[in-house]
Amino acid sequence: MEKLVSLAKRRGFVFQSSEIYGGLGSVWDYGPLGVELKKNIKERWWRSMVHEREDIEGLDAAILMHPKVWEASGHVAGFTDPLVDCKHCKNRFRADDPKIKGTPGQPDGQCPACGTKGTLTAPRQFNLMFKTFMGPVEEDAAVIFMRPETAQGIYVNYLNVLQSSRQKVPFGIAQIGKAFRNEITPGNFIFRTREFEQMEMQYFVKPGSDGEWFEFWRAERMKWIEALGIRKEKLRWHQHGKTELAHYAKDAYDIEYEFPFGWNEFEGIHNRGDFDLSRHQEYSGKKLDYLDTTTNTRFVPNVVETSAGADRTTLVVLCDAYREEAVKNEDGADKEELRVVLKLKPELAPIKAAVFPLVNKDGMPDVGRRVYDDLRKRFNVFYDDGGSIGRRYRRQDEAGTPFGITIDGQTSQDQTVTVRDRDTLKQVRVGSGALVDYLKDHLAG
Ligand SMILES: [Zn+2]
Repeated sequence: MEKLVSLAKRRGFVFQSSEIYGGLGSVWDYGPLGVELKKNIKERWWRSMVHEREDIEGLDAAILMHPKVWEASGHVAGFTDPLVDCKHCKNRFRADDPKIKGTPGQPDGQCPACGTKGTLTAPRQFNLMFKTFMGPVEEDAAVIFMRPETAQGIYVNYLNVLQSSRQKVPFGIAQIGKAFRNEITPGNFIFRTREFEQMEMQYFVKPGSDGEWFEFWRAERMKWIEALGIRKEKLRWHQHGKTELAHYAKDAYDIEYEFPFGWNEFEGIHNRGDFDLSRHQEYSGKKLDYLDTTTNTRFVPNVVETSAGADRTTLVVLCDAYREEAVKNEDGADKEELRVVLKLKPELAPIKAAVFPLVNKDGMPDVGRRVYDDLRKRFNVFYDDGGSIGRRYRRQDEAGTPFGITIDGQTSQDQTVTVRDRDTLKQVRVGSGALVDYLKDHLAG
């Protein structure tokens, strides 16, 4: 993991936030390559969830929401009460839970779940929501929260989207956006951060059909992840057991990846029943039921949710692409050397191709500049004329750039350039006028 963190900084994928001031705990910034990689992942998600589906609409709700939203969602009650943990069975309770006997934190404190004595921690304030103030006066009435999840923005807009888009149940709403949690134990680079980005889709279905849709979305999401090029043996399902399930949830599965720090979830598919819309109906006093005109019946839709972390998915892609391998020296020396390479799927790669004049003379830089100017109208490409060609290839290997285009002595004779493949190191000669088509063909998928 340290190697990946170091590469991420060296090549400009991810930097620690406010590093010149010593950094801010578990907050990270995406550098020039990182922002491209994450954007490519988000765009791919948006295309498959929104553009390719008739039954899903997009949304971009505000981070700041009416404080009542978080009462309805359960976050105010669930996140700000003093909580105690059982060190034995790992269950967590409100400190004022009447089922607790004795005093938590003392030897006589008894866990209501497993019955062990002395394993309850003293009450601690778990305030996972970031609080802030709206308006000029810092008073309780003006307290609002930074959203701890994007889903609520979808629920409160359910009727707006339904009516304006003329969708019919079953249909979904998709959103990509930032959320904030004051995590007690953050860590592992961009895995658990206090500010993070979610890619969520809430699918509204008729009660009774939720089980079927749940299985449908489980299969769809796994297909999408595998299509990112992630190795299958590094992926697995984890079904939530009875104690892990949120009290209202009917079923939930995590998709886990084997990170260098172990198996951990980066996406969840949840069958949430009618909890969300029912609660907002209750707290807002607005009817959120749905009239099924074919049967003339009314119901509150059930929700099947697919919830992915954009940062976590980016970390999965980075971890899975990271390889160290022995390859031949590419400056012509007869020896092997170790290279670090990110074998990113070309469609996800931040830079699609790098353009290199072999030497800075004989007109090669002029041709190189022309090729670069031509390509960058279509692709994110990079121009590099510094150092030996082997070293320039290695830098792009670390950036995950799939193609290296070199202008050499032969270019001035027949207007061809070499195109080097990042993974096989093989070089082919391509007419400089045919480069756009060549890249288009080889970047697809
Ligand atoms: Zn216990």
